Amino acid sequence: MFPELKLQENIKKQAGKSMYELIQRLYPLCRSITGNGVRETLSVLKEFIPLTIVEVASGTKVLDWEVPDEWNINDAWIKNEEGEKIVDFKKLNLHVLNYSTPVNKEVDLGELKKHLFTIPESPDWVPYRTSYYNRNWGFCLSHNQYEKLPEGKYFVHVDSEIKPGALTYGEYLVPGKTDKEVLLSCHICHPSLCNDNLSGIVLATKMAEFLKTQDLHYSYRFLFIPGTIGSITWLSRNEKKLDKIRHGLVLTLLGDSSAYHYKKSRRGNCEIDNIMEYLLEKEEGAKLLDFSPYGYDERQFCSPGFNLPVGRLSRKPHGEFPEYHTSADDINFVAPENLSHSFVFLLKVIKLIEGNKKWLNLKPKGEPQLGKRGLYKPIGGQSQQKDYQMAILWVLNLSDGNHSMLDIAKKSGIDFDILLLAAENLSKANLLEEAGDNYEV
Ligand code: ZN
Repeated sequence: MFPELKLQENIKKQAGKSMYELIQRLYPLCRSITGNGVRETLSVLKEFIPLTIVEVASGTKVLDWEVPDEWNINDAWIKNEEGEKIVDFKKLNLHVLNYSTPVNKEVDLGELKKHLFTIPESPDWVPYRTSYYNRNWGFCLSHNQYEKLPEGKYFVHVDSEIKPGALTYGEYLVPGKTDKEVLLSCHICHPSLCNDNLSGIVLATKMAEFLKTQDLHYSYRFLFIPGTIGSITWLSRNEKKLDKIRHGLVLTLLGDSSAYHYKKSRRGNCEIDNIMEYLLEKEEGAKLLDFSPYGYDERQFCSPGFNLPVGRLSRKPHGEFPEYHTSADDINFVAPENLSHSFVFLLKVIKLIEGNKKWLNLKPKGEPQLGKRGLYKPIGGQSQQKDYQMAILWVLNLSDGNHSMLDIAKKSGIDFDILLLAAENLSKANLLEEAGDNYEV
């Protein structure tokens, strides 16, 4: 009946540490929108949660798109005239243009430069670049190195393959009492980037691992999908099930230390939007962003034909920090304490989702006599006790079937946990009954 999301200090600490360790393991894998990097990533996640791994063949029509050919890479480098490797994929996988076609030839500096990518504004960092749909070969390197390349001959080598294969994604449903679902989605298509993609992946994994031990009202569907083409593929294969989704979040950029940013769903006034607005008011510096048709997979979930109640939770939004899509989004850019904070915050969101019901006061004429029902029983400290007594009165008064627990929290200003406890005890004393689920679609 109630979400027993018991959270102890050691769970918080453990979650941060284990998420960080998982990032360290996944960091070296060369992920892309298809290929073995994604498969290896999902097989690591399978150690923690029983993921279903889905393979969709290249060429499959998915909505207005088609699953692309699969890309795999073994090695890539640039050698100078002396035969020294001056750029080496094995040292950092960002050095190769993601989806680079194979190449193996000698080029002069002028020709080479047409295939090099740098960031002049951050000259020490290597950019992350992709070319999924325009066939090209290329390398990424620091602007400092680029500027110092002498005239002469270079040997370029990309040992990659692009051919029909499959797009791979992972999915896991944690069952609750109802088949109504909460969708939690993250992208798994970036190579060695930590905040962008890995933070969302490890948070979703550890949250799924935690939730599967809990007694839940909703069912929680976790998606580990390549950005854009992955959500399009998943949506096209699951169109008939979408009406089960009551709330959703795209999880990304959750390992840095910035304040939370929540991007509302396209509808803008869904229950998840209201829950996030309520919770973010209590988080220092947090910002609510209106929906826009740019960003991560919320673009697909909130396309007009689906218009799902899905928002996006991040710390610093994409594109608004210089490390975004560069080699500086590395293992030092994320920290266990930030990941742990994101874990705890997401749990608060889930607790609100679970507890945001409407109740019906069964003795609405006059105030019921609380003393004889043991409802003056002390809880916690003195200030909590006062809030608890007020919570009893607020829950009784507003449980007319029209107010959700979130409405009561907003009106009363009382902590949601204390309101939940009050409702639980009132229900045990047969003064409240559930007035149905508080969801609209
Ligand atoms: Zn990205």
